[in-house]
Amino acid sequence: MNVVWRKEWINEYESPWSVFEKLALVNLADRNEILQIFGSAHVKDIKHYIGDKQRELIQLNGFHLERLHQTLDFNLQEHNFKNIQSLIGPFSELYSSWEHWFHRELHWCSRCMEGGYHSWLHQFKLLDECAFHDLKLNNTCPNCRSTVPFLLSNRQLEHAFQCKCGYAFANFHMSSWNEWRAPDQMNPAVLRWVQANQANMKISNMHSKWIIHAQHCNLKRLVMDGPEEIKLFNSEETFHRQDYFSKRFQKDLLQVTSNAVQQVVDRLLQSTLKSHRHCITQLMELRKSNETIEFPEICPYAYAYVFWRKSLLKKEHFYGFDSLRISLISDDVAPLLVRELLEYFSDQVVNYQMKIRRCIDMGGLSWILEKLVLQFCENFFCAWMEIAGKRSKEVSVPSWKEIENMRDQSFPDVAFKYNFDESSSSSSIEYYHLQNREPLLNNKCNCPNQYETAKQDIQTMISYTPQKVAMLNMSNPSDEHQILQKIVERYVKKLSF
Ligand SMILES: [Zn+2]
Ligand SMILES: [Zn+2]
Ligand SMILES: [Zn+2]
Repeated sequence: MNVVWRKEWINEYESPWSVFEKLALVNLADRNEILQIFGSAHVKDIKHYIGDKQRELIQLNGFHLERLHQTLDFNLQEHNFKNIQSLIGPFSELYSSWEHWFHRELHWCSRCMEGGYHSWLHQFKLLDECAFHDLKLNNTCPNCRSTVPFLLSNRQLEHAFQCKCGYAFANFHMSSWNEWRAPDQMNPAVLRWVQANQANMKISNMHSKWIIHAQHCNLKRLVMDGPEEIKLFNSEETFHRQDYFSKRFQKDLLQVTSNAVQQVVDRLLQSTLKSHRHCITQLMELRKSNETIEFPEICPYAYAYVFWRKSLLKKEHFYGFDSLRISLISDDVAPLLVRELLEYFSDQVVNYQMKIRRCIDMGGLSWILEKLVLQFCENFFCAWMEIAGKRSKEVSVPSWKEIENMRDQSFPDVAFKYNFDESSSSSSIEYYHLQNREPLLNNKCNCPNQYETAKQDIQTMISYTPQKVAMLNMSNPSDEHQILQKIVERYVKKLSF
């Protein structure tokens, strides 16, 4: 087959996705036909189903690279590698593979797409706006809401640049089918980043290291913002690599986390929740005035606190605990909701410390963990506050899936820059907090228990936890007790996740 192509159609920072869409459009081919032409020997041997691994666009593993190079008159793989390096250069040691840095679903800018252009900068997780137009990126079809995999695949696509549902991401007329548009000028902050990385392509700086998480960072802010805080460390307490895995060390880390959560609890109880302590007691102890009556209306503040705490600490029940103390140090305690993220950060810190100093400095590590826990817990409480008004009235809770979503949204966008000064063997850590501003509790909720009489009522109410009611029913199986047990069970079931 004769392939129609001109290498001028490939633009700077362009991803292979739009290169192949252009190929499809110009040659009236679909994506499987393109893979047939350019697939590796292995791919050509596959008779039926060609899996996603052969269709990926980062390494181009499923392609016959030489044929691709010759036909396009362009080295697409080298172009990929250069582009990716210029985005992730200083972070490249954080993950073992590049896939972590790029979305699995296509992310695109509608303005760029109109010209047939899709970029690595759209697909990069650290940018949520187009680097050329500052527009919010799309990741679902505006018509059918489907996502498109970032692969050479027909799965969600019909004709070139067209969704399965018929929606056209770009319209090319017969007369202008190859009038592709090159990208506009790049946002200066992003451009600075990309150019600096291109200049330092091969120089790795041992004496400072960025520690970020691909999902919880924002590149534009990182380039523009200064650090929120810089902390200097003169390490006294040092540990060895094997200590990191010891029970004692892990317990110390857990203590740091636990203290940070307690700090947030104390702060909340002295501010937002100050006048709702009785409301929290009522909900947590499942208090009501008598056996046969339904439970009273839930105060939204108590709701937010009780379920924030339950989900954060992954408690089985929301009721019957000591509301004011947090302890993560005991054998029957489940790990914190963000354990994996915290582990990621502490592994990165420890790896770097080991590389530079051959020992672990507890000071820097706990400082970073504390920052993460404090910020996450506050954001996560705000997320619970946002749904508390409606949900407390409905007596309902979100599903675990929704809670995981709240968790991911609440984890702060941050970056740490670890600097190590060899001459004085001291180190400093810069903390970049990449959020717009501190989360504000701007949606005021109505508490049903603010009258003096309501406070007294709660004090005289009786606690009916499921265990207590089960005991009552066992010792005296009366009709009232059976009704009571039903009421309690129904209520608790509505509030479990
Ligand atoms: Zn754009
Ligand atoms: Zn669609
Ligand atoms: Zn209240």
